[in-house]
Amino acid sequence: MVGCSQSFVRMLEKMEEFDPEKVIEEFEAITQDAGKVQRETLKKILEENGSAEYLQSLGLNGRTDPESFKTCVPLVTHKELEPYIHRIADGDHSPILTGKPITTISLSSGTTQGKPKFVPFNDELMESTMQIYWTSFAFRNREFPIGNGKALQFIYSSKQFQTKGGLAAGTATTNVYRNSQFKETMKAIQSQSCCPDEVIFGPDFHQSLYCHLLCGLIFRDEVQFVFSTFAHSIIHAFRTFEQVWEELCTDIREGILSSRVSAPSIRTAMSKLLKPNPELADLVYKKVTGLSNWYRLIPELFPNAKYIYGIMTGSMEPYLRKLRHYAGELPLLSADYGASEGWIGANVNPKLPPELTTFAVLPNIGFFEFIPMKHNIEDQDHNQMDPSFFHIEPEPVDLTEVKIGEEYEIIVTNFAGLYRYRLGDVVKVMGFHNTTPELKFVCRRNLLLTINIDKNTEKDLQLAVEEASKLLGEEKLEVVDYSSHVDSSTDPGHYVIFWEISGEAGEEILKECCNCLDRSFVDAGYVSSRKVNAIGALELRVVRGGTFQKILDHYLGLGSAVSQFKTPRCVGPTNNLVLQILCDNVVESYFSTAF
Ligand code: AMP
Repeated sequence: MVGCSQSFVRMLEKMEEFDPEKVIEEFEAITQDAGKVQRETLKKILEENGSAEYLQSLGLNGRTDPESFKTCVPLVTHKELEPYIHRIADGDHSPILTGKPITTISLSSGTTQGKPKFVPFNDELMESTMQIYWTSFAFRNREFPIGNGKALQFIYSSKQFQTKGGLAAGTATTNVYRNSQFKETMKAIQSQSCCPDEVIFGPDFHQSLYCHLLCGLIFRDEVQFVFSTFAHSIIHAFRTFEQVWEELCTDIREGILSSRVSAPSIRTAMSKLLKPNPELADLVYKKVTGLSNWYRLIPELFPNAKYIYGIMTGSMEPYLRKLRHYAGELPLLSADYGASEGWIGANVNPKLPPELTTFAVLPNIGFFEFIPMKHNIEDQDHNQMDPSFFHIEPEPVDLTEVKIGEEYEIIVTNFAGLYRYRLGDVVKVMGFHNTTPELKFVCRRNLLLTINIDKNTEKDLQLAVEEASKLLGEEKLEVVDYSSHVDSSTDPGHYVIFWEISGEAGEEILKECCNCLDRSFVDAGYVSSRKVNAIGALELRVVRGGTFQKILDHYLGLGSAVSQFKTPRCVGPTNNLVLQILCDNVVESYFSTAF
């Protein structure tokens, strides 16, 4: 039952057909006594990886019980593991973090040093990915059965590259899509993409997106559901449809692919699918021209689609309004919860709307601990005079010890070389499925700026501001203080950076600063979104001298102490008054032209 259950393994090996009822049975079984499964899972992880240098150095001496594990192994962030991961990436094949050498690296978002993180990827991670897919599909299909058709999946591979030591590296999703098990699983769960691989793995995002849309239309009667990993890509796809639909109709009518698609691999693959079809072109034309402000676009285009599927929680929630507009009455089903570092839980209550979606933790894919958040807040409230007290963190509790209604930071130990790893996410316990908790995603513990797949922390913002403000040095000026804001009122949303400057800077310099800020956010999600305009141009707003003093005054008025005051580095929509102070004091603003 641990790691991957026997029937999962058999299904993986294709000895048996995928059987959703059996998957549900398995899930019910492993969640009956989640505490026991957790202990067994930890034992298995430690047995498999006991020879790894990292574990050896911590003095576990072969012990595999949770108590010894917690005593010997410290809580870590990516920063502490980075030297080990870099040795792996540089080609050291000795058992460093895992017993079996790691052969693939995933690229996660840059939340530590403002650059993408490397995390280990291995077969066990791939298997747990498939287990998550199967589990949520089994529950989803019970409520929303789909026929044997196709899926319009807006999925894209990032470029794969080799690390210094020759390991394959790419985003976690790319590592998954490239694995042969992915295709097998998609076939088993009736979710095969209607696009050829050449489109998914194409060299240019815009061309791939265009062909995803074209394939969707060609197979419009067969499309059973519309998917993307994060819901933002679905919105982005249909916004693009609004621009290119007439061209798509022309392609279908004439059976000739638009010259905007230049990649030979994609052209060859598409030429096998595209035949002149004036009836379909007329039908799409009629459907689109019959719409009012694109409402119900998706069900009109894909009459047999049963639902829309993708991660719609967390930073994706702002897109729900637009998604519902395109979807009309089609249900929105929110997808599972995980990270490049590994999976955590599956959505086993697909009928719940995205705002209420929870994730039932799979107790056999990792060992999970939870640091209570509430105490941190209480400590801060009750001990305002002693800042050092803030650093005393409560002990993590085990999976089955969490309490309904409480928020926790999640700690992951998995089969891919991460031990007591702080993922940086805050979750809330909403209930239990048998004995395993159902979690709601709350937020990134450290995240400041995020619009879709981009993730930038206070540190990332600081680095960007530092870089850009160097330009002001030439005019002997400096940034007095700064803050930021995500402006979602524009379409697409964009980052706004507020600067208070020590004197008057020239227009040219400020334009350069603005471009430099935009370029300095090096998070892969931000850069790729900027390139395709899924995030709008960064805006630099210069505020009047004294503005940040007004903000301090505002906080003092609310009862804060000057000694404890910290400038809010990101002003969210709930912080209206501070946003108002900033906006009322803007003297000039610039939009980046860096992308
Ligand atoms: P990455 O670092 O690019 O692998 O992204 C992983 C992060 O995305 C997680 O740590 C979460 O913060 C976020 N995430 C993943 N799945 C979900 C979900 N279902 N709901 C909300 N946020 C999610």
